[in-house]
Amino acid sequence: MNHFDALPRTLRGWFDALKSFLRRPAPSAGAQTAGADAPSLSQQSDATAQTGAFWRDIEAQLPEFAWLTDAQRQRLRALAEAFLRRKRFWGAHGFEVTPEVAGLIAYHAALIAHRAGLFIYDGFAGVIVYPGAFVRQRRLEDEWGVVHEWEDELSGETWEQGPVVLAWHEARDATMNSFLHEFAHRFDAASGTIDGCPPLPPEISPRAWQRVWSRALARAEEEAKHGLALPFDEYALAGPEEFFAVLTESFFLHGEALQTWDDAVYSHLVALYGLDPVQQRVQRSKEPRE
Ligand SMILES: [Zn+2]
Repeated sequence: MNHFDALPRTLRGWFDALKSFLRRPAPSAGAQTAGADAPSLSQQSDATAQTGAFWRDIEAQLPEFAWLTDAQRQRLRALAEAFLRRKRFWGAHGFEVTPEVAGLIAYHAALIAHRAGLFIYDGFAGVIVYPGAFVRQRRLEDEWGVVHEWEDELSGETWEQGPVVLAWHEARDATMNSFLHEFAHRFDAASGTIDGCPPLPPEISPRAWQRVWSRALARAEEEAKHGLALPFDEYALAGPEEFFAVLTESFFLHGEALQTWDDAVYSHLVALYGLDPVQQRVQRSKEPRE
């Protein structure tokens, strides 16, 4: 249940103005209550340089990215190492951030930064990791003085200022990946506002981006209204910023369906990330197996 979308529109505008949190509902029930906005942070990992064997182990846990070339893997490892050096990790609710946990999260951060580079993460100090989905208590007083209180159950959260917050156990399955989702929000934020338009590569003008993405979002809204199945989570329709983050997940996990649905959006994501999962999967399948 997305409580945010259930709010009256006037309140929603007010809420937007706060501009402080972007989050997605957790996919499953059974969340832990996160004690409002001050989690008990216990563990902390100090990153050290990792070996090739370490990264091979991380990559072995990520068969969904088996299409990456050796050159891309080298760059991703270098980016992930630099991310580990620059960012701090905290475990909430007793969760232990092991080097493997930090490495796996850093590898996802690297995928999003593959072309743009790590400058996109300059705006935050680190990552808080909860063991599972966490609950945020929300409280808002509207313009009539009525206080609204509700709970959001989340698998990830991004604040304009402040750390990225992730839930370890609900983070990834075949159709969703909240690590990619939250780092895509950080990428978006690197342009100055979280509005669904990240810093763009030189070959894409802001006008072209706007045209392609607003047209795609309008089409998705129309198709959902008519009961058609979308090739991505309908949470994408919560706004341009969620559309970008959810379609980024879709691009990495099942790009074929996204490309078939809207080739222009897919091409923009290829340019943005410097990766082409669909083409590279085809390429990979032609290579002789060892
Ligand atoms: Zn989101």
